[in-house]
Amino acid sequence: MKKVDALPEMMRAIRKLSPAPGAELCQIAIPEIGPRDVLVKVKATSVCGTDYHIYSWDPWSQNRVKPPLTVGHEVAGEVLAVGRDVTACRVGDSVSAETHIICNVCPRCHVGEYHLCENTRILGVDTNGCFAEYVAVPEQNIWINDKDIPWAIQSIQEPLGNAMHTAMEGDLTAQSVLITGCGPIGIMSVPIAKHAGAEIVIAMDINDYRLDMARALGADVLINPIKQDPVEEVRKHTRGYGVDVVMEMSGNPTAIRQSLKAARNGARVSLLGLPSKPMELDLGTDVVMRGLVLKGITGRKMWKTWYQVRSMLRSGLADRLKPLITHQMPLESVHEAMELMGAGKCGKVVLVPEMAAK
Ligand code: NAD
Ligand code: ZN
Repeated sequence: MKKVDALPEMMRAIRKLSPAPGAELCQIAIPEIGPRDVLVKVKATSVCGTDYHIYSWDPWSQNRVKPPLTVGHEVAGEVLAVGRDVTACRVGDSVSAETHIICNVCPRCHVGEYHLCENTRILGVDTNGCFAEYVAVPEQNIWINDKDIPWAIQSIQEPLGNAMHTAMEGDLTAQSVLITGCGPIGIMSVPIAKHAGAEIVIAMDINDYRLDMARALGADVLINPIKQDPVEEVRKHTRGYGVDVVMEMSGNPTAIRQSLKAARNGARVSLLGLPSKPMELDLGTDVVMRGLVLKGITGRKMWKTWYQVRSMLRSGLADRLKPLITHQMPLESVHEAMELMGAGKCGKVVLVPEMAAK
């Protein structure tokens, strides 16, 4: 193992210790790395909706997660040590991680559709994650960052990649775009769509705090479907026809149905949001007879999406995204971070292990 001088033996980590709501800050041994692994000193780790689901122990987590587990998967940090056979990065590099750990041997991996791997495991869900001072990441998941991008922005590249993948599944140049759901991923999609040349970006959410953030990041029109008829509003801004592109980022069944009705005939509807259970659609009327093109989006393309993220960050997106980082706090404040997530009163919440506890 190639490494810097002396590594500490123990570290702080936020762990799910038992199959129940909550998580605890623990002292545990720093992870060991194998010949093809990289040890990363965590500089920033952002909180994802998935972390909140695991923390609150929702039905999905109960079926998927096997405690004990170190939570967290959105990471930026410095390479502290590399395994014997690692060639992809060096000690001192600023890195992030693709969180889908793929098998490399299934048919989808064989044809280069790595994001559709049949055997995907997820960092911080199926393996120990990065809400900690150090995290071990397989070499094949390491992405080297530009050092002049702030740590907090580096750490949100994984969800930014979800937004990028959704946006880039078709042309956005001179298109009208509806983003349904302005959680962090929906909000990130606003400047991406603008950057990619959209004519108008319409953002929809039931939470006015989130709509204000979408406006701050460049949305042209805001719709709160509790106060307005979203389909009528969208038509008003699209010469009566509906939008060219829908980016569905709420996972809410009502919003999904409304988004289909707000799409013009033949529109592209890229679906990222995950409904919590099976839902009903008027497939004949809203999809088939109107020639809509529905596309499910999972994860990020490896590594095309990451290159697109890097390119946009370099050409101005990093600055545009700064207002999205609403909170930075130490690991000790994880409960406060989760409360913010639950209330939706935040953009991205970032944990900074080197920050002193309050
Ligand atoms: P989030 O839960 O923070 O955001 C969802 C937003 O939708 C919230 O702001 C909420 O107020 C809004 N919303 C709820 N009901 C609505 C309605 N009726 N109309 C309009 N807006 C409504 O989630 P996020 O972290 O931004 O992620 C977005 C979605 O993408 C989630 O469903 C998440 O599970 C999913 N996701 C999918 C992938 C993937 O690979 N497909 C990856 C990450 C996240
Ligand atoms: Zn595979």
